[in-house]
Amino acid sequence: MSRIDPGFATEIKKYGAKDFTACFNCGNCTAVCGLTDKNANFPRMFIRQGTLGQKEEILQSKELWLCYACGDCSDTCPRQAGPGDYMAAMRRYAIASYEPTGLTKLMFKSNPGFIVVTLFFSLLLGFFLFTLKPGHEVSRWLFSFLPYEVIHNMGLVIFSITGLSVAWGIVVMVIKLTKIHDKKEKSKGNWLSSLLKVANEIATMNRYKTCDEEEDSFWKDKPWYKQPWFVHWSIMWGFIGLLVATVLDFMLKDPATSIWWPSRILGTLAGLLLVYGTSLAINYRLKKVTKAYSETRLADWTFLLFLWIAGITGFWLEISVALHANYLVNHIVLLIHTIISMELVLLFAFSKFAHAFYRPLALFFYFNNNQ
Ligand code: SF4
Ligand code: SF4
Repeated sequence: MSRIDPGFATEIKKYGAKDFTACFNCGNCTAVCGLTDKNANFPRMFIRQGTLGQKEEILQSKELWLCYACGDCSDTCPRQAGPGDYMAAMRRYAIASYEPTGLTKLMFKSNPGFIVVTLFFSLLLGFFLFTLKPGHEVSRWLFSFLPYEVIHNMGLVIFSITGLSVAWGIVVMVIKLTKIHDKKEKSKGNWLSSLLKVANEIATMNRYKTCDEEEDSFWKDKPWYKQPWFVHWSIMWGFIGLLVATVLDFMLKDPATSIWWPSRILGTLAGLLLVYGTSLAINYRLKKVTKAYSETRLADWTFLLFLWIAGITGFWLEISVALHANYLVNHIVLLIHTIISMELVLLFAFSKFAHAFYRPLALFFYFNNNQ
């Protein structure tokens, strides 16, 4: 067991937790959560560990990542301790702790810090893009103030730090998740079967659906295409589809002048999914339709808006290419689209986005230990 740290409660509130120390351990939250089982007593267990400051237990937990932030537990808490927000805050804390540079900590805990880092990345990426076209009029003007090599190399360094941070975070998480405290905890399953279960969850979001289909869920009677699991599914697959389409374009040297080119079709479908999912998520947060959507941090707004802008500007460019419309405005849209897309890739390591690789990893070890 790790050392007890009473100051931890104050620290975790900076990551978005509410007054979780008001919890009197009644267990309602655990009873109402459709994703807990005999092996995963959350969120109550985590609240207890957070109150005592047992950080290592939390960072070594696979169960933390089983929660999909539906907020049902917060609705039923008699003490307004916000167990759902608490779980989300703990995941932010875990992401920040696995990542080595400290940037994630800064961005999660301080809004000004978040704005400075995001703007710095945008500026640098904007400049970096001009180093890819050194003959451009704007590039020549820019390089008269800032040497080409400095900008180009800084861009490469930032991308390398991002890649290394992702790799480091994954290694740290694996080390923590595989710490064995008890012989009974030893891996029982077969790796292939656990991998297939993770793939199935990514493809279908079946566990997330469980939250939306609970008897007392606000979403129970809503059509599936409006339910949070589908919103999440659309954003995730939209983003993955666009990433694959971009890589294919690049590898196949696709002239991208026809909307019927296979990678263009993939890009169009993925873009539709992304814009659909992000539009619904933004709408739900603006209207605060449920408790889970009523607290949106600056980082969440920025993340959603970046995804939405990347999707909309992508369609703008697709239409202008199809119409051979070579106007200045289209070049500006291209610049915005490229900067935002690259920024999303950079933020992959330093934001909530990182759950895209931490959650599947935790699910894999969870399935492997509980077969
Ligand atoms: S429902 Fe609220 S008071 Fe009861 S255990 Fe959960 S967080 Fe604590
Ligand atoms: S937010 Fe939803 S999934 Fe997460 S612990 Fe609460 S009820 Fe369970």
